[in-house]
Amino acid sequence: MTFPQRVRVAGDLFHGRLPADAVYVGRSAPGLPRSRWANRHPAGKPCRACGLTHDRWAAVAAYAADLSRDPALTADARSALQGRDLACWCHPDDRPCHADLLLLVATGLDALTALVVLVTAHHAAELLAQEQS
Ligand SMILES: [Zn+2]
Ligand SMILES: [Zn+2]
Repeated sequence: MTFPQRVRVAGDLFHGRLPADAVYVGRSAPGLPRSRWANRHPAGKPCRACGLTHDRWAAVAAYAADLSRDPALTADARSALQGRDLACWCHPDDRPCHADLLLLVATGLDALTALVVLVTAHHAAELLAQEQS
């Protein structure tokens, strides 16, 4: 059995293409309309929503806070995203993306619990890597 995962939009910024069967969760880009699950809090540049410059974790946390205040969108995420791969522009590295949070919300977790799971999983992975080095 394979679990749904975060995948990267294929193509380039001007010709974004979705991997097969993935749901796009990013901002508007040429060829890709803004997803209703896009994160209004960008990482690495000033955020128009709150005036801060978020790092990746803070951007995901701000998204979790937004989602936790929107039960209707949360319910829609559970029904529409369950079992689907989620596509975003973020590179698939060990840093988080709001798509990782949405993957957890799609399994039925509420947004803030999903955030705790993401943070905990990240720290566990770091600890295991230390054990092995
Ligand atoms: Zn923000
Ligand atoms: Zn992303």
